[in-house]
Amino acid sequence: MIPFADLKAQYRSIKGEIDAAVAQTLESSQFILGREVAAFEEEFAAFQGAAHCAGTNSGTSAVHLALLAAGVGPGDEVITTPFTFVATVAAILYTGARPVYADIDAETYNIDAAKIAATITPRTKTIMPVHLFGQPADMDPILEIARRHGLTVIEDACQAHAAEYKGRRVGSIGDIGCFSFYPGKNLGAYGEGGCVTTNNPELARTVRLLRNWGEESRYHHVLRGFNYRMEGLQGSILRVKLRHLERWTEAKRRLARVYARELEGAGVRLPREREWARHVYSVYAIASEARDELQRELTAAQIQTAIHYPEPIHAMAPYRDEAFPRGSLPVAERAAGRVLSLPVYAELSEVQAREVASAVKLAAAVQAK
Ligand SMILES: *Cc1c(COP(=O)(O)O)cnc(C)c1O
Repeated sequence: MIPFADLKAQYRSIKGEIDAAVAQTLESSQFILGREVAAFEEEFAAFQGAAHCAGTNSGTSAVHLALLAAGVGPGDEVITTPFTFVATVAAILYTGARPVYADIDAETYNIDAAKIAATITPRTKTIMPVHLFGQPADMDPILEIARRHGLTVIEDACQAHAAEYKGRRVGSIGDIGCFSFYPGKNLGAYGEGGCVTTNNPELARTVRLLRNWGEESRYHHVLRGFNYRMEGLQGSILRVKLRHLERWTEAKRRLARVYARELEGAGVRLPREREWARHVYSVYAIASEARDELQRELTAAQIQTAIHYPEPIHAMAPYRDEAFPRGSLPVAERAAGRVLSLPVYAELSEVQAREVASAVKLAAAVQAK
C-alpha cells in the first residue's frame, strides 16, 4: 500500500534530533513561548526572507491575527478565493468582516487577479490571496490593484513554506503573511502551530500583543487579545525540522518532475508551475473529468489519494452568502469536481512515484475506452 502521507517515516528519519530537542525543552520547562519559540521565530523569518515572525498556536489564529492587525473588522469586506481550506474564510468571519470571492485561474487554482477589480466596493479593506497547494498566487497584479485602491494584502501562505514568487520567498511580499505548522503541512509541528510574518514592525508588534492577551507587561493589557501563543515544545521541534525543510522541498519537487514525466499524455491535467514560481507541492493535484472513478481505481490498486477540496467555500451550507449562489464562481466549482491529490512527500521513493503514475495511466486508459 502507498499511503497518502507518512508522518511516522519522517519522524524516524530525524528521531535523534527531535528527541534531544524535546528532552531539552522539558528540562527548561519553558512550555509557552520562551527561548525555543523566540529562536524559531528568528530562524523562520530569515528562512522566509521576512524581517519579523510571530509564532501562534495555529495557522487559523495566524490568519485571524493578521486580519485584526490590518484593522479588518465588522462592516469591512475581504476579497479572497473560494477554492481554499475553510480556515481562510472562517478567520475573515471571526473578525466580523464579510468574505467576498473572486473566481480562480483554471490552471493554477489560485485567485485570478483579473477578476479582483470587479469585486471591489467602498467597504473593501484587504485582499487575501492563498498560495494554494504550494504555488504562489500572481502577486504583482494583486499588489498593483491594492495600491491603487489603498487596500492591504495578506498572504495566506499556510501551504507555501519555501515557495517563491519571482525569486522572493512568500510571506512578506504583501503586508503580512500567515503560515500553518499543522502536522500535514510542508513544515509541520507535532501538534498545532502557526505564525505571522511581516516586514512591518508595527504589524509585528500588534500580532505579538494580540496572541498573548494584549499584554505589554505582566497583567498590563493594552489590547483585547487572545490566547493564541505557540508552545515551547512546538518551537523546539520546528527548529529541528526547519533545518531539513530545504532538502524535503527539493525531494518533493523531484517527485513532481517524476509525475510530470510519467503522466505526460495520460489524459489527466497536471499541475502547472508558472515560469515565475517555485512550487513546493504541499499538494500534488491532478485533475480528471472522471475523478471519482479514478480515485476508486487507485484505491483498489492500494494507492491512497485525497481531494483538496471537494467543495468550494461558497457552496458549503454554513458559509452560504446569497451574493454567491451556486454557479456564480464556475471555475472554482469545476475544479472542486475534478481535482485529485496524489501522494507527495520526501520519504516517498521515485520507484513508488512511478508505481502511482502507472496506476493513474492504467485507470485513465481504461476510462478513455
Ligand atoms: C492549513 C490551512 C490553514 C489553517 O491552518 P491550521 O494550522 O490548520 O489552523 C489556513 N489556510 C490554509 C490555506 C491552510 O491550508
